Amino acid sequence: MSFAQSLIDNVVRIAEEKGAKKVSKVVVEIGKLLMLNPEQLKFCYEVVSKGTIAENSELELIEVKPIIKCSICGKEYDTPFAICDCGGVLTVEGGKDAVIKKIEMEI
Ligand SMILES: [Zn+2]
Repeated sequence: MSFAQSLIDNVVRIAEEKGAKKVSKVVVEIGKLLMLNPEQLKFCYEVVSKGTIAENSELELIEVKPIIKCSICGKEYDTPFAICDCGGVLTVEGGKDAVIKKIEMEI
């Protein structure tokens, strides 16, 4: 719920800065490593957006996969927190952030 709350706070702040009367759609990239449940997030978004200019807006989520690879040989993996066959430590790039990509609004 707190993630949805901070998301809506940001959306409303940005939209109001642009002088928007209403937000119709929000597109957010969410890293898979954040372990957010998209259905649950959409539900929470709906709840916290009530009474704001983003009420009834559509939330589109784009899941971003992290790039996990060995720091020594460069072999790619699906899960972090492991050691490569060569003994190298895996590094994780991306997949940990939530980024607002687009806000569609009526001005
Ligand atoms: Zn390796």
